[in-house]
Amino acid sequence: MPAGTPTGRRVLIVGAGVVGLLTAMECVRRGDDVTVLDQGPIPNPAAASFDQNRVVRALHPGDPTATRAAADLHGRWLELERHLATPLFRRLGVLLVQPAAEALGDLRLMRAAGVDGEMLGPKQLRQRLAHLRLPARAAGLLEPEAGVLLARRVLTATTRWLRQHGSVRLLPYRAVVEVDPAAAAVTLAGGSTLAGDLLFVAAGAWSRSLLAGLLPAPVTLYRQSVLYRRPDPAESTAWGATPVVVLRTGPHAGGWLLPPGAGTDLKVSTHAVCRPVERLGSRRTPPSRRRALDHLLRSIVPGAAAPAPTETHDCYYLADRATGGAVLTRLGSSSSPTWAYAACGGGGFKTAPLIAREVAGLRAPPPRPPVRARPPGRAAATPGRRTT
Ligand SMILES: Cc1cc2nc3c(=O)[nH]c(=O)nc-3n(C[C@H](O)[C@H](O)[C@H](O)COP(=O)(O)OP(=O)(O)OC[C@H]3O[C@@H](n4cnc5c(N)ncnc54)[C@H](O)[C@@H]3O)c2cc1C
Repeated sequence: MPAGTPTGRRVLIVGAGVVGLLTAMECVRRGDDVTVLDQGPIPNPAAASFDQNRVVRALHPGDPTATRAAADLHGRWLELERHLATPLFRRLGVLLVQPAAEALGDLRLMRAAGVDGEMLGPKQLRQRLAHLRLPARAAGLLEPEAGVLLARRVLTATTRWLRQHGSVRLLPYRAVVEVDPAAAAVTLAGGSTLAGDLLFVAAGAWSRSLLAGLLPAPVTLYRQSVLYRRPDPAESTAWGATPVVVLRTGPHAGGWLLPPGAGTDLKVSTHAVCRPVERLGSRRTPPSRRRALDHLLRSIVPGAAAPAPTETHDCYYLADRATGGAVLTRLGSSSSPTWAYAACGGGGFKTAPLIAREVAGLRAPPPRPPVRARPPGRAAATPGRRTT
């Protein structure tokens, strides 16, 4: 994908997670001059995006609007996969295990939104997934076009692409400590400042503290524990035909399982180990949560009793306190050139191409002089910018 004809617009992006990186790519494609800052390396293993994989599916049960909006998401990812010439998406299907009446309702909703779906009766479900222990009378609703994104690979391939373009500066180890929405400017740890014509803050779970006092509505910080189990080569045939499984009924309702493959582990988690917390903390999983995940794994994958190395880690995300969803918002006044993706609502990987396109398409005031680092203590060249 070539860079577009130069627009002269200077875009400053804080955060090199999936949202920041894809937005940078989209801006380059439109001809902007882009600077990306991250507090750590780029990509950063501490980012929520830096995991083995993430699910992309269209169905949002009970929500026709969200389902319609997500109907073509996997298509966006396939487009990106072609541009980056790297496999990023595994079309495994996503299977919701739920009571038959609910599955029928969701199937109607999918079809109305133009999304393919297939019902599996309880017997079919058990035949197809004989290696899993699923609730006795449950039905299955399969979304065959859905699947998983190889998340880490998305970040490394996008970073590689950005490095090849002269109109992008990737600046690792630049922690932003303050945001000035009116000036589209940031202050870095150490005191220097940077400014752009458009500033986009995509700081993931760190947004709550970085943007304290700037967000229009409260957000909740969640911490979730996840268990990974190395794939056992003897099981590869069974897993090769296994979709992502989401349990919506039975003793483990709220649980989900991502099958192993393409270099990724078998992965399980459940809403039961996702909890609101006050602040970002350790990524180590507390023993009680680890036990809960071990129990979940052994309950739904009977073969997992065989010894295979497992590990767990904890990960954080923000959600709008009122809606539980994502927050893309302008910061400051209604004409401010600063925007933030301040919460992802737990599904922010798959929608990153949509956010990137929306942010890159934002109209900003006419271009100003170049984005550049300024040592602490020196006055800004442009009136109205922050001074240190
Ligand atoms: C357990 C779990 C499972 C999930 N499953 C799914 C799923 O299946 N499907 C899905 O679509 N989504 C899923 N999500 C959500 C998804 O992972 C996130 O929405 C997405 O990765 C967020 O991307 P981001 O770029 O906004 O933030 P991040 O990836 O967290 O990136 C933020 C970046 O900003 C940098 N940064 C932060 N503060 C500063 C600062 N002050 N200065 C400079 N840099 C800074 C950080 O270092 C980081 O690199 C899941 C999340 C979790 C926790």
